[in-house]
Amino acid sequence: MTEAETTAAPLLAVRNLVTGYGDLRVVWDVSFDVLPGQVTALLGRNGAGKTTTLRAIAGLNKMHGGSVRLAGEDVDGLAPHRRIRAGLGVVQENKRVFKRRSVEDNLLLGGYTGRRAGRRKLKGALEEIYELFPALRGRAGTPAGQLSGGQQQMLAIGQAIMGRPKLLMLDEPSAGLAPAIVLEVMSSVARLKESGLGILLVEQAVEAAVSVADHVAVLDVGRIVMESPVGMIDDLRIIKDAYFGRAGAQPE
Ligand code: ATP
Repeated sequence: MTEAETTAAPLLAVRNLVTGYGDLRVVWDVSFDVLPGQVTALLGRNGAGKTTTLRAIAGLNKMHGGSVRLAGEDVDGLAPHRRIRAGLGVVQENKRVFKRRSVEDNLLLGGYTGRRAGRRKLKGALEEIYELFPALRGRAGTPAGQLSGGQQQMLAIGQAIMGRPKLLMLDEPSAGLAPAIVLEVMSSVARLKESGLGILLVEQAVEAAVSVADHVAVLDVGRIVMESPVGMIDDLRIIKDAYFGRAGAQPE
């Protein structure tokens, strides 16, 4: 465990989470933390319950048990938009941007829903996004639907950052992207954590996630089957074994 892990209070603390769809429970007793300036990767194969967990944290799925604390505040009872105001940023799977609206409009819309008020401040914030994602610079007027898949992913992340979140949740940002673009997206995640943001990275792509993660938790059939600081994992096979439901994967 690093010094930061022993001293920093978690930005996101999920404890004994039970959730699902209506009365159907698909996630059982899930607990993990995300610390400031760090990435926690929530890994697992198709259908493991990663998106369901993320949706419950965002307030989109009903919780049947457990608790979610954001920056020390209990958010269990808050509606999704109040969680965004409390500092949660969410990038859902499949780069959900407004395809007919321009890049700049998409970014400004992200700012209005978050914690950054006032059009002038939002305009200033655009520059931060273009610094983070140079590929978007000069494309302010381009309809988002005309961007490449990788650029749309960057725009979706930029949109969430415009809301000035304390904790950013990314659901499978590598999905459908070429390996070189995945690297680019992961290096922007690394730059974001350097700014002090806490990031929950939901991924199926183990190598990509581990390249930026500080901590990993592997979910299978709605339960955490392995978790560890990345620094203690010397062989990715340990993660992959847990991933595919092989017992005895927990490192010493
Ligand atoms: P993926 O990588 O495919 O997104 P995941 O780990 O995110 O996988 P979830 O999408 O959280 O998995 O799905 C967990 C379980 O919940 C699966 O068994 C899935 O079939 C079920 N599920 C997902 N969406 C719904 C829904 N709207 N209604 C009922 N069950 C659902």
